Amino acid sequence: MKHKIETECIHITMDNNEHLAVNVPIYQTSTFKFHNADHGAELFAGKGQGYIYTRIGNPTIEALEKAVATLEHGYKGLITSSGMAAETLIFSTFLKSGDHVISSESVYGPTSTLLKNVFSNFGIETTFVDTSSIEEIKKAVKPNTKMIYVETPANPTLVVTDIEEVSKIAKEIGAKFVVDNTFSSPILQQPLTLGADIVLHSMTKFLNGHADVVAGCVIPKTEEDYKALYSTHKHLGGIISPIEAFLILRGIKTLALRMERHCQNAMKIAKFLENHPKVERVFYPGLESHPQHEVAKKQMKGYSAMISFELKGGLEAGKKMMNSVKVCTLAVSLGGVETLIQHPASMTHAGMPKELREQAGITDGLVRLSVGIENVEDLIADLDQAMS
Ligand SMILES: *Cc1c(COP(=O)(O)O)cnc(C)c1O
Repeated sequence: MKHKIETECIHITMDNNEHLAVNVPIYQTSTFKFHNADHGAELFAGKGQGYIYTRIGNPTIEALEKAVATLEHGYKGLITSSGMAAETLIFSTFLKSGDHVISSESVYGPTSTLLKNVFSNFGIETTFVDTSSIEEIKKAVKPNTKMIYVETPANPTLVVTDIEEVSKIAKEIGAKFVVDNTFSSPILQQPLTLGADIVLHSMTKFLNGHADVVAGCVIPKTEEDYKALYSTHKHLGGIISPIEAFLILRGIKTLALRMERHCQNAMKIAKFLENHPKVERVFYPGLESHPQHEVAKKQMKGYSAMISFELKGGLEAGKKMMNSVKVCTLAVSLGGVETLIQHPASMTHAGMPKELREQAGITDGLVRLSVGIENVEDLIADLDQAMS
Protein backbone atom coordinates (compact mmCIF):
# COMPACT_ATOMS: atom_id res chain seq x y z
CA MET A 1 0.00 0.00 0.00
CA LYS A 2 1.53 3.29 -1.15
CA HIS A 3 -0.65 5.65 0.88
CA LYS A 4 -2.83 5.53 3.95
CA ILE A 5 -5.90 3.31 3.52
CA GLU A 6 -8.39 6.23 3.27
CA THR A 7 -6.44 7.58 0.28
CA GLU A 8 -6.07 4.14 -1.27
CA CYS A 9 -9.85 3.63 -1.19
CA ILE A 10 -10.16 6.58 -3.59
CA HIS A 11 -7.04 6.03 -5.71
CA ILE A 12 -7.17 2.29 -6.29
CA THR A 13 -10.66 2.69 -7.69
CA MET A 14 -9.51 5.22 -10.33
CA ASP A 15 -8.08 4.17 -13.64
CA ASN A 16 -5.35 4.89 -16.17
CA ASN A 17 -7.18 4.39 -19.43
CA GLU A 18 -6.69 5.77 -22.91
CA HIS A 19 -9.50 8.32 -22.62
CA LEU A 20 -8.30 9.55 -19.21
CA ALA A 21 -11.68 8.81 -17.59
CA VAL A 22 -11.45 9.32 -13.84
CA ASN A 23 -13.50 6.20 -13.15
CA VAL A 24 -12.92 2.65 -14.30
CA PRO A 25 -14.98 2.13 -17.48
CA ILE A 26 -17.63 -0.61 -17.49
CA TYR A 27 -16.42 -3.11 -20.09
CA GLN A 28 -19.80 -4.80 -20.44
CA THR A 29 -18.67 -7.43 -22.93
CA SER A 30 -18.45 -11.20 -22.83
CA THR A 31 -15.60 -11.48 -25.31
CA PHE A 32 -12.61 -9.53 -26.71
CA LYS A 33 -11.14 -9.18 -30.21
CA PHE A 34 -7.64 -10.36 -31.08
CA HIS A 35 -5.48 -8.16 -33.38
CA ASN A 36 -4.56 -11.25 -35.40
CA ALA A 37 -3.92 -14.98 -35.09
CA ASP A 38 -0.55 -14.51 -33.40
CA HIS A 39 -2.04 -12.19 -30.78
CA GLY A 40 -4.78 -14.74 -30.02
CA ALA A 41 -2.19 -17.50 -29.75
CA GLU A 42 -0.07 -15.35 -27.44
CA LEU A 43 -2.96 -14.64 -25.08
CA PHE A 44 -3.89 -18.30 -24.91
CA ALA A 45 -0.28 -19.08 -24.07
CA GLY A 46 -0.59 -16.67 -21.13
CA LYS A 47 1.63 -14.02 -22.71
CA GLY A 48 1.04 -10.58 -24.21
CA GLN A 49 -1.39 -7.79 -23.43
CA GLY A 50 -5.13 -8.22 -23.68
CA TYR A 51 -8.19 -10.18 -22.66
CA ILE A 52 -9.86 -13.27 -24.07
CA TYR A 53 -13.25 -13.85 -22.45
CA THR A 54 -14.90 -12.28 -19.39
CA ARG A 55 -15.09 -15.45 -17.29
CA ILE A 56 -11.27 -15.63 -17.56
CA GLY A 57 -10.60 -11.91 -17.22
CA ASN A 58 -12.21 -8.49 -17.74
CA PRO A 59 -10.67 -5.04 -17.17
CA THR A 60 -13.48 -3.72 -14.92
CA ILE A 61 -13.41 -6.86 -12.77
CA GLU A 62 -9.60 -6.80 -12.76
CA ALA A 63 -9.64 -3.26 -11.34
CA LEU A 64 -11.70 -4.60 -8.44
CA GLU A 65 -9.36 -7.59 -8.00
CA LYS A 66 -6.46 -5.19 -7.58
CA ALA A 67 -8.40 -2.87 -5.29
CA VAL A 68 -9.39 -5.55 -2.76
CA ALA A 69 -5.89 -7.03 -2.80
CA THR A 70 -4.37 -3.62 -2.01
CA LEU A 71 -6.75 -3.05 0.89
CA GLU A 72 -6.07 -6.50 2.38
CA HIS A 73 -2.31 -6.60 1.62
CA GLY A 74 -2.79 -9.70 -0.53
CA TYR A 75 -1.22 -10.90 -3.78
CA LYS A 76 -4.30 -10.47 -5.98
CA GLY A 77 -8.06 -10.81 -5.48
CA LEU A 78 -10.56 -13.17 -7.06
CA ILE A 79 -14.06 -11.81 -7.49
CA THR A 80 -16.97 -14.21 -7.01
CA SER A 81 -20.72 -14.08 -7.57
CA SER A 82 -21.46 -14.06 -3.81
CA GLY A 83 -19.81 -14.53 -0.44
CA MET A 84 -20.95 -18.16 -0.52
CA ALA A 85 -19.30 -18.57 -3.95
CA ALA A 86 -16.07 -17.22 -2.38
CA GLU A 87 -16.25 -19.98 0.25
CA THR A 88 -17.05 -22.61 -2.39
CA LEU A 89 -14.01 -21.49 -4.37
CA ILE A 90 -11.72 -21.76 -1.32
CA PHE A 91 -13.01 -25.16 -0.20
CA SER A 92 -12.92 -26.66 -3.69
CA THR A 93 -9.40 -25.39 -4.34
CA PHE A 94 -7.67 -26.50 -1.16
CA LEU A 95 -9.65 -29.50 0.13
CA LYS A 96 -10.03 -33.02 -1.15
CA SER A 97 -11.68 -36.22 0.01
CA GLY A 98 -10.26 -37.37 3.36
CA ASP A 99 -9.37 -33.87 4.58
CA HIS A 100 -10.51 -32.38 7.87
CA VAL A 101 -11.50 -28.76 8.58
CA ILE A 102 -11.72 -26.95 11.90
CA SER A 103 -14.30 -24.15 11.71
CA SER A 104 -15.62 -21.54 14.13
CA GLU A 105 -18.94 -22.81 15.53
CA SER A 106 -20.25 -19.26 15.34
CA VAL A 107 -20.28 -18.69 11.60
CA TYR A 108 -22.71 -17.34 9.06
CA GLY A 109 -25.50 -19.97 8.93
CA PRO A 110 -25.09 -21.01 5.27
CA THR A 111 -21.33 -21.44 5.82
CA SER A 112 -21.89 -24.23 8.33
CA THR A 113 -24.57 -25.75 6.08
CA LEU A 114 -22.17 -25.68 3.11
CA LEU A 115 -19.57 -27.62 5.09
CA LYS A 116 -22.04 -29.93 6.86
CA ASN A 117 -24.40 -30.77 3.97
CA VAL A 118 -22.44 -30.17 0.76
CA PHE A 119 -18.70 -30.67 1.22
CA SER A 120 -19.37 -33.62 3.55
CA ASN A 121 -20.68 -35.41 0.41
CA PHE A 122 -17.19 -35.14 -1.05
CA GLY A 123 -15.53 -36.79 1.96
CA ILE A 124 -14.56 -33.59 3.76
CA GLU A 125 -15.18 -33.64 7.50
CA THR A 126 -15.61 -30.51 9.63
CA THR A 127 -15.33 -30.04 13.39
CA PHE A 128 -17.04 -26.90 14.69
CA VAL A 129 -15.42 -25.40 17.80
CA ASP A 130 -15.42 -22.17 19.77
CA THR A 131 -12.39 -20.62 18.07
CA SER A 132 -12.17 -17.87 20.69
CA SER A 133 -10.57 -20.65 22.76
CA ILE A 134 -7.14 -21.64 21.46
CA GLU A 135 -7.35 -24.78 23.63
CA GLU A 136 -10.54 -25.90 21.85
CA ILE A 137 -8.81 -25.52 18.48
CA LYS A 138 -5.78 -27.49 19.63
CA LYS A 139 -8.03 -30.29 20.91
CA ALA A 140 -9.78 -30.53 17.54
CA VAL A 141 -6.59 -30.97 15.48
CA LYS A 142 -6.31 -34.29 13.63
CA PRO A 143 -3.49 -35.65 11.47
CA ASN A 144 -5.57 -34.80 8.37
CA THR A 145 -6.52 -31.23 9.40
CA LYS A 146 -5.89 -29.19 6.25
CA MET A 147 -7.76 -25.98 7.00
CA ILE A 148 -8.73 -23.73 9.89
CA TYR A 149 -11.70 -21.52 9.02
CA VAL A 150 -12.49 -18.54 11.25
CA GLU A 151 -15.13 -15.83 11.14
CA THR A 152 -14.31 -12.90 13.45
CA PRO A 153 -16.24 -11.07 14.76
CA ALA A 154 -18.82 -13.78 14.14
CA ASN A 155 -22.55 -14.25 13.72
CA PRO A 156 -24.66 -13.73 15.80
CA THR A 157 -23.10 -13.15 19.24
CA LEU A 158 -20.01 -11.34 17.87
CA VAL A 159 -17.50 -13.79 19.28
CA VAL A 160 -13.95 -12.63 18.52
CA THR A 161 -11.09 -15.00 17.64
CA ASP A 162 -7.41 -14.10 18.07
CA ILE A 163 -6.12 -14.24 14.49
CA GLU A 164 -2.42 -14.14 15.38
CA GLU A 165 -2.73 -17.00 17.88
CA VAL A 166 -4.69 -19.19 15.47
CA SER A 167 -2.14 -18.53 12.72
CA LYS A 168 0.54 -20.08 14.94
CA ILE A 169 -1.42 -23.34 15.23
CA ALA A 170 -2.13 -23.36 11.48
CA LYS A 171 1.59 -22.95 10.70
CA GLU A 172 2.55 -25.64 13.15
CA ILE A 173 0.22 -28.22 11.61
CA GLY A 174 0.63 -27.02 8.00
CA ALA A 175 -3.04 -26.12 7.53
CA LYS A 176 -4.40 -23.24 5.43
CA PHE A 177 -5.77 -20.50 7.64
CA VAL A 178 -8.84 -18.80 6.18
CA VAL A 179 -10.55 -15.75 7.71
CA ASP A 180 -14.01 -14.43 6.82
CA ASN A 181 -13.41 -10.68 7.26
CA THR A 182 -16.90 -9.57 6.22
CA PHE A 183 -17.93 -8.05 9.57
CA SER A 184 -14.82 -5.86 9.87
CA SER A 185 -13.95 -4.83 6.30
CA PRO A 186 -10.24 -4.24 5.54
CA ILE A 187 -10.52 -0.78 7.12
CA LEU A 188 -10.81 -2.24 10.62
CA GLN A 189 -8.93 -5.53 10.38
CA GLN A 190 -6.38 -7.00 7.94
CA PRO A 191 -6.02 -10.72 8.69
CA LEU A 192 -3.23 -11.34 6.14
CA THR A 193 -0.96 -9.01 8.14
CA LEU A 194 -1.79 -11.06 11.26
CA GLY A 195 -0.80 -14.42 9.81
CA ALA A 196 -3.84 -15.62 7.83
CA ASP A 197 -3.23 -17.24 4.43
CA ILE A 198 -6.51 -16.34 2.77
CA VAL A 199 -9.18 -13.72 3.43
CA LEU A 200 -12.71 -13.70 2.09
CA HIS A 201 -15.53 -11.20 2.06
CA SER A 202 -19.15 -11.11 1.26
CA MET A 203 -18.84 -7.83 -0.68
CA THR A 204 -22.63 -7.72 -0.54
CA LYS A 205 -22.04 -6.17 2.87
CA PHE A 206 -19.61 -3.36 3.84
CA LEU A 207 -17.32 -3.33 0.77
CA ASN A 208 -20.17 -2.43 -1.56
CA GLY A 209 -22.18 -0.93 1.27
CA HIS A 210 -25.33 0.10 -0.59
CA ALA A 211 -27.47 -3.06 -0.53
CA ASP A 212 -27.64 -3.22 -4.32
CA VAL A 213 -25.14 -5.97 -5.27
CA VAL A 214 -24.53 -9.59 -4.23
CA ALA A 215 -20.83 -10.50 -4.63
CA GLY A 216 -17.80 -11.91 -2.85
CA CYS A 217 -14.03 -11.96 -3.04
CA VAL A 218 -11.10 -14.17 -2.05
CA ILE A 219 -7.69 -12.64 -1.35
CA PRO A 220 -4.70 -14.95 -0.92
CA LYS A 221 -1.39 -13.76 0.47
CA THR A 222 0.85 -15.66 -1.95
CA GLU A 223 1.16 -15.97 -5.71
CA GLU A 224 1.10 -19.76 -5.37
CA ASP A 225 -2.28 -19.77 -3.64
CA TYR A 226 -3.56 -17.20 -6.13
CA LYS A 227 -2.65 -19.43 -9.07
CA ALA A 228 -4.38 -22.44 -7.51
CA LEU A 229 -7.51 -20.40 -6.78
CA TYR A 230 -7.55 -18.79 -10.24
CA SER A 231 -7.33 -22.13 -11.97
CA THR A 232 -10.34 -23.42 -9.99
CA HIS A 233 -12.28 -20.13 -10.31
CA LYS A 234 -12.21 -19.97 -14.09
CA HIS A 235 -13.58 -23.51 -14.23
CA LEU A 236 -16.19 -23.21 -11.45
CA GLY A 237 -17.25 -20.03 -13.24
CA GLY A 238 -18.90 -18.06 -10.41
CA ILE A 239 -17.94 -14.58 -11.64
CA ILE A 240 -19.83 -11.26 -11.49
CA SER A 241 -20.81 -8.93 -14.29
CA PRO A 242 -18.64 -5.89 -15.10
CA ILE A 243 -21.41 -3.48 -14.12
CA GLU A 244 -21.51 -4.99 -10.63
CA ALA A 245 -17.73 -4.65 -10.37
CA PHE A 246 -18.16 -0.97 -11.21
CA LEU A 247 -20.79 -0.53 -8.48
CA ILE A 248 -18.52 -2.16 -5.88
CA LEU A 249 -15.57 0.02 -6.96
CA ARG A 250 -17.82 3.03 -6.41
CA GLY A 251 -18.83 1.68 -3.00
CA ILE A 252 -15.18 1.24 -1.97
CA LYS A 253 -14.50 4.95 -2.58
CA THR A 254 -16.49 5.77 0.57
CA LEU A 255 -15.60 2.64 2.56
CA ALA A 256 -13.24 4.33 5.04
CA LEU A 257 -15.66 7.18 5.66
CA ARG A 258 -18.61 4.84 6.06
CA MET A 259 -16.74 2.57 8.49
CA GLU A 260 -15.81 5.57 10.63
CA ARG A 261 -19.47 6.57 11.00
CA HIS A 262 -20.65 2.95 11.39
CA CYS A 263 -18.25 2.51 14.32
CA GLN A 264 -19.15 5.82 15.99
CA ASN A 265 -22.90 5.15 15.73
CA ALA A 266 -22.62 1.52 16.87
CA MET A 267 -20.55 2.44 19.94
CA LYS A 268 -23.13 5.04 21.04
CA ILE A 269 -26.01 2.63 20.45
CA ALA A 270 -24.26 -0.24 22.27
CA LYS A 271 -23.77 2.00 25.32
CA PHE A 272 -27.39 3.20 25.15
CA LEU A 273 -28.62 -0.40 25.01
CA GLU A 274 -26.36 -1.52 27.83
CA ASN A 275 -28.02 1.02 30.12
CA HIS A 276 -31.57 0.34 28.99
CA PRO A 277 -33.92 -1.29 31.56
CA LYS A 278 -35.56 -3.58 28.95
CA VAL A 279 -32.24 -4.99 27.74
CA GLU A 280 -30.76 -8.05 29.43
CA ARG A 281 -27.40 -8.18 27.64
CA VAL A 282 -25.53 -6.48 24.80
CA PHE A 283 -22.96 -8.17 22.56
CA TYR A 284 -20.59 -5.63 20.97
CA PRO A 285 -16.80 -6.11 20.79
CA GLY A 286 -16.28 -2.43 21.65
CA LEU A 287 -17.85 -2.79 25.09
CA GLU A 288 -15.63 -3.69 28.02
CA SER A 289 -18.27 -6.25 29.02
CA HIS A 290 -17.59 -8.23 25.81
CA PRO A 291 -15.67 -11.42 26.72
CA GLN A 292 -13.02 -10.88 24.01
CA HIS A 293 -12.86 -7.09 24.18
CA GLU A 294 -9.08 -7.13 24.71
CA VAL A 295 -8.49 -9.34 21.65
CA ALA A 296 -10.74 -7.10 19.56
CA LYS A 297 -8.84 -4.03 20.78
CA LYS A 298 -5.55 -5.65 19.80
CA GLN A 299 -6.46 -6.71 16.27
CA MET A 300 -9.16 -4.26 15.15
CA LYS A 301 -8.99 -0.52 14.48
CA GLY A 302 -12.67 -0.12 15.31
CA TYR A 303 -15.48 -2.42 16.37
CA SER A 304 -17.72 -2.19 13.31
CA ALA A 305 -21.49 -1.90 13.04
CA MET A 306 -22.88 -5.21 14.24
CA ILE A 307 -24.62 -5.38 17.62
CA SER A 308 -26.70 -8.16 19.13
CA PHE A 309 -28.76 -7.64 22.26
CA GLU A 310 -31.16 -9.64 24.35
CA LEU A 311 -34.54 -8.22 25.23
CA LYS A 312 -35.94 -9.11 28.66
CA GLY A 313 -39.38 -10.09 27.33
CA GLY A 314 -38.25 -12.99 25.09
CA LEU A 315 -39.99 -13.93 21.84
CA GLU A 316 -43.01 -11.62 22.27
CA ALA A 317 -40.86 -8.60 23.13
CA GLY A 318 -38.68 -9.34 20.10
CA LYS A 319 -41.62 -9.52 17.70
CA LYS A 320 -43.19 -6.40 19.21
CA MET A 321 -39.99 -4.47 18.74
CA MET A 322 -39.76 -5.56 15.08
CA ASN A 323 -43.27 -4.21 14.50
CA SER A 324 -42.56 -0.91 16.22
CA VAL A 325 -39.35 0.38 14.58
CA LYS A 326 -39.77 3.32 12.20
CA VAL A 327 -36.23 4.45 11.29
CA CYS A 328 -34.58 1.02 11.39
CA THR A 329 -35.56 -1.26 8.50
CA LEU A 330 -36.82 -4.75 9.26
CA ALA A 331 -34.62 -6.90 6.99
CA VAL A 332 -31.77 -9.41 7.02
CA SER A 333 -28.28 -8.73 5.59
CA LEU A 334 -25.90 -6.09 6.94
CA GLY A 335 -23.19 -3.60 6.16
CA GLY A 336 -25.22 -1.07 4.20
CA VAL A 337 -25.69 2.64 4.84
CA GLU A 338 -29.17 1.92 6.24
CA THR A 339 -29.76 0.47 9.72
CA LEU A 340 -31.24 -3.03 9.52
CA ILE A 341 -32.85 -4.88 12.40
CA GLN A 342 -33.89 -8.52 12.63
CA HIS A 343 -35.04 -11.07 15.19
CA PRO A 344 -33.21 -14.40 14.66
CA ALA A 345 -35.61 -16.53 16.78
CA SER A 346 -38.64 -15.66 14.62
CA MET A 347 -36.74 -15.11 11.34
CA THR A 348 -33.30 -16.39 10.23
CA HIS A 349 -33.10 -19.12 12.87
CA ALA A 350 -36.81 -19.97 13.32
CA GLY A 351 -36.27 -23.37 11.68
CA MET A 352 -33.63 -24.37 14.23
CA PRO A 353 -34.75 -26.46 17.28
CA LYS A 354 -34.99 -24.17 20.31
CA GLU A 355 -32.40 -26.16 22.25
CA LEU A 356 -29.74 -25.98 19.53
CA ARG A 357 -30.59 -22.34 18.93
CA GLU A 358 -30.05 -21.45 22.58
CA GLN A 359 -26.82 -23.43 22.68
CA ALA A 360 -25.56 -21.20 19.87
CA GLY A 361 -26.45 -18.14 21.94
CA ILE A 362 -29.55 -17.29 19.89
CA THR A 363 -32.08 -16.81 22.66
CA ASP A 364 -35.74 -15.89 22.10
CA GLY A 365 -35.16 -12.25 22.91
CA LEU A 366 -32.02 -11.80 20.80
CA VAL A 367 -32.14 -8.90 18.33
CA ARG A 368 -29.49 -8.22 15.70
CA LEU A 369 -28.72 -4.73 14.48
CA SER A 370 -26.59 -3.64 11.55
CA VAL A 371 -26.06 -0.01 12.45
CA GLY A 372 -26.13 2.35 9.47
CA ILE A 373 -24.76 5.83 8.96
CA GLU A 374 -27.92 7.81 9.77
CA ASN A 375 -27.93 10.43 12.52
CA VAL A 376 -27.38 8.42 15.69
CA GLU A 377 -29.89 10.43 17.73
CA ASP A 378 -32.64 9.43 15.31
CA LEU A 379 -31.59 5.78 15.65
CA ILE A 380 -31.49 5.86 19.45
CA ALA A 381 -34.88 7.60 19.62
CA ASP A 382 -36.33 4.95 17.31
CA LEU A 383 -34.94 2.01 19.33
CA ASP A 384 -36.12 3.66 22.54
CA GLN A 385 -39.71 4.14 21.34
CA ALA A 386 -39.80 0.62 19.85
CA MET A 387 -38.79 -0.93 23.17
CA SER A 388 -41.35 1.04 25.15
C1 LIG B 1 -23.48 -12.56 4.10
C2 LIG B 1 -22.33 -13.31 4.60
C3 LIG B 1 -21.76 -14.37 3.88
C4 LIG B 1 -22.35 -14.86 2.58
O1 LIG B 1 -22.32 -13.87 1.59
P1 LIG B 1 -23.38 -13.77 0.38
O2 LIG B 1 -22.85 -12.61 -0.39
O3 LIG B 1 -24.73 -13.56 0.97
O4 LIG B 1 -23.28 -15.06 -0.36
C5 LIG B 1 -20.65 -14.99 4.40
N1 LIG B 1 -20.11 -14.62 5.58
C6 LIG B 1 -20.63 -13.61 6.31
C7 LIG B 1 -19.99 -13.24 7.59
C8 LIG B 1 -21.75 -12.93 5.86
O5 LIG B 1 -22.28 -11.93 6.59
